[in-house]
Amino acid sequence: MSSPTYIGRFAPSPTGPLHVGSLVAALASWLDARAAGGRWLVRMEDLDRPRCEPGADDTILRQLEAYGLLWDGTVLYQSRRDDAYAAALAALRSQGAVFACTCTRSQLAQAPRNAEGEIVYPGTCRLHPFPNLAPHAWRVRTVDASTHFVDRVHGALRQDLADEVGDFVVKRADGLFAYQLAVVVDDAFQGVTHVVRGADLLWNTPRQIYLQGLLGLPTPAYAHVPLVTNAAGQKLSKQTLAPALPERGRRMVLAQALAALGHPPPAELVGAGPGELLGWAVGEWRIKNVPLHPTIANATQAPDNQPLAPSP
Ligand code: GLU
Ligand code: ZN
Repeated sequence: MSSPTYIGRFAPSPTGPLHVGSLVAALASWLDARAAGGRWLVRMEDLDRPRCEPGADDTILRQLEAYGLLWDGTVLYQSRRDDAYAAALAALRSQGAVFACTCTRSQLAQAPRNAEGEIVYPGTCRLHPFPNLAPHAWRVRTVDASTHFVDRVHGALRQDLADEVGDFVVKRADGLFAYQLAVVVDDAFQGVTHVVRGADLLWNTPRQIYLQGLLGLPTPAYAHVPLVTNAAGQKLSKQTLAPALPERGRRMVLAQALAALGHPPPAELVGAGPGELLGWAVGEWRIKNVPLHPTIANATQAPDNQPLAPSP
């Protein structure tokens, strides 16, 4: 059997219900998959168990259904995949690609930060390995070379991992596997060929491509779609108290999400239901029409007739 040419996925962290920002990411990946005649999977990224909210996974699945974003196959839960992540870590250890790190958050507080505000690991434990007795994280050694990749929305990009990120964590000192490792293992396990997700993850991509290289896994195509921010310019999230997607007025919310993705529905579709809007959008979908800039959401939950205003 030949492998399908397109497998996409939406990978929410079940820390709360979806908001309009997560809908935009889900919608973009769904549209890209359906327009290509591909499969579309949902994966629950419930790795960071303390941050997950009981029942949020079901809420998210019901919200996707309500908005007409139906997935293929069964939902994969990262909380059940520790064995696969442990095997990947063992493979990295056997190549000497990782080292134990006992640095605490406060010890790293003074380290320089990159443009994303993340700490660039200063290499402390790389050269002075501590015995593996103390609680420790595992970090992967980065090399002083540019990682190049072509994002389908942002074009050709490069990042020097050693300079701009430093050796990064693949397993945390509290025993939890890090997102960077899990996402790479699971994208490969699920045969994902196309990743379409929010632009907040754009600069995580070189880390993931680097790990794919070390683990001998294929690199999918990447596309990062604009975030939705609140009026203060913050990404919508649980931390910024983004309201859950409304249960009523889905048509308007969907039309706004499509506009945020550079596909505003035409006037003839005013009054069309979600199914009709999605059908239209699958036919019209062109990733090159997706804008780079973020969109500002309505401050209120009410899905009134106010379109999402693009930022200047
Ligand atoms: N779980 C991540 C999030 O909700 C998304 C991971 C991904 O799409 O690679 O931000
Ligand atoms: Zn360290």
